[in-house]
Amino acid sequence: MSSQRVAVLVVAAGRGSRAGGGLPKQYRPVHGRPVLGYSLEAFARHPLVDMIRVVIHPEDLPLYREAGGALELMEPVHGGETRQESVYLGLISLKEQAPDVVLIHDGARPVVEPGLIARVIEACAHYPGAIAAMPVTDTLKRARADHDGMALIDGTVSREGLWRAQTPQGFRYADILSAHEQARGRTYTDDAAVAEAAGLTVALVEGGRDNLKITLPGDFDTAGELIREHGHVMQMETRLGTGFDVHKFGPGDKVMLCGVPIPHDRGLVGHSDADAGLHALTDALLGALGAGDIGQHFPPTDEKWKGASSDRFLRHAVSLIEERGGRVVHLDVTLICERPKVGPHREAMIRRIAEIAGLPPKRVNVKATTTEQLGFTGRREGIAAQAAATIALPAEG
Ligand code: MG
Repeated sequence: MSSQRVAVLVVAAGRGSRAGGGLPKQYRPVHGRPVLGYSLEAFARHPLVDMIRVVIHPEDLPLYREAGGALELMEPVHGGETRQESVYLGLISLKEQAPDVVLIHDGARPVVEPGLIARVIEACAHYPGAIAAMPVTDTLKRARADHDGMALIDGTVSREGLWRAQTPQGFRYADILSAHEQARGRTYTDDAAVAEAAGLTVALVEGGRDNLKITLPGDFDTAGELIREHGHVMQMETRLGTGFDVHKFGPGDKVMLCGVPIPHDRGLVGHSDADAGLHALTDALLGALGAGDIGQHFPPTDEKWKGASSDRFLRHAVSLIEERGGRVVHLDVTLICERPKVGPHREAMIRRIAEIAGLPPKRVNVKATTTEQLGFTGRREGIAAQAAATIALPAEG
């Protein structure tokens, strides 16, 4: 029944607080790629799918763009306060396209197999709705609590006829839109429940044992194994960037170099803390990412960065890479000056850079050289630093 026009609505507007801190779970990287990227690719590649729209949180647009990569997707729409509200807004946004069938899928289910998607779509040719689900195979116990709160078995529940609902959940578009309109003001835990409440018949089709919904922190490791097994591991490519920076000496009694304060008979002049080492490293990372330079991200005309500690610049560059599903492989910086002597501080600098960038120290190198008393560094007028950064990024093909 491939004559049906099939839309997919991927719900990715949640904040995922149960899955641990940091990015919302659907944007956290697994094998260097955001979880949502796997979910979207499964549908984007599917021959029976005609269009894909993602419902996102308004703050997540840059994360969404990275997760979507080069996949062919409709413009995203903003979700609401609850998942049900987000689905409703997504459904409304498809009024113009008016597909025959819409599949609704959780963005945090990255291992959805093509056969499963096809089963749901085909069943929607025969029923108003069809969802992926797995028959319950474990024996079910009802619990009661003893006086200490320990759970005790109160009885065994028959598992006969019981299924665990997954997504995608597919419906005839007009039917599910109308069911969601009727459901306004009442809360349901999935779209099938919304459909049931509207009296629609919904079929159960065989889901996927590996169609995991990432919910808790430990689920990321499981998802990583499943994604590897299913052969969806993203190709990474290596990128290199370089950076260069100079700051001149001025009055003072210490200089900041690579995040370490070093006593000296002069200071360094700059809008921020004038840490040429961290500035060169930041530019090297931005260069590898293709994200411009430090001045674009932290304009020296902005009073906000006056006297700023430069560790935040480096950390920002690292976070941009992580948001793209990438990681830093190696950082190398050369400090060019006659004085102060760098050698005694080299280990502390390596540790500090590693700490700021979230790397093991062996992935950081600090070198020092003089210019044989030639030029401005030779005349002790200032300090120069140059850096190289190697990063791994999801290949864009
Ligand atoms: Mg600078």
